[in-house]
Amino acid sequence: MIKKGSKLYSVFTNRCPVCHQGEFFEGRPYKGSVRHHCESCQAKFQKEPAFYQGSYFVAYGLGIISILTSIVGCLVLLPTPNPDYIFAITALVNIVFAPFLYPMSKIIWANIFFSYNKKALSE
Ligand SMILES: [Zn+2]
Repeated sequence: MIKKGSKLYSVFTNRCPVCHQGEFFEGRPYKGSVRHHCESCQAKFQKEPAFYQGSYFVAYGLGIISILTSIVGCLVLLPTPNPDYIFAITALVNIVFAPFLYPMSKIIWANIFFSYNKKALSE
């Protein structure tokens, strides 16, 4: 299991990258709206205006990984790989996962710039 203190814990549980306690997103994660600050440790999530525009690069990378995984999965699992089926399955998988990739890219982007601080809750 992923332990508290690792960046993967923050990414997969949508928790604050600093304290791993407070929620990172406002409301539902697939909407992708990041809170202004953490409710638990008061860490400010917006380092500067348009800070999360850099997460588009992460979203692009996640999209490429998703497409390649779909294509390789089709080539391995389909008995007779047909390009039409591969395209259809890849498009379907990416349409289904697209709402999750963008919020995930934002929290990955935040974890690049914020570090876990065990003492953040007591400060
Ligand atoms: Zn926090």
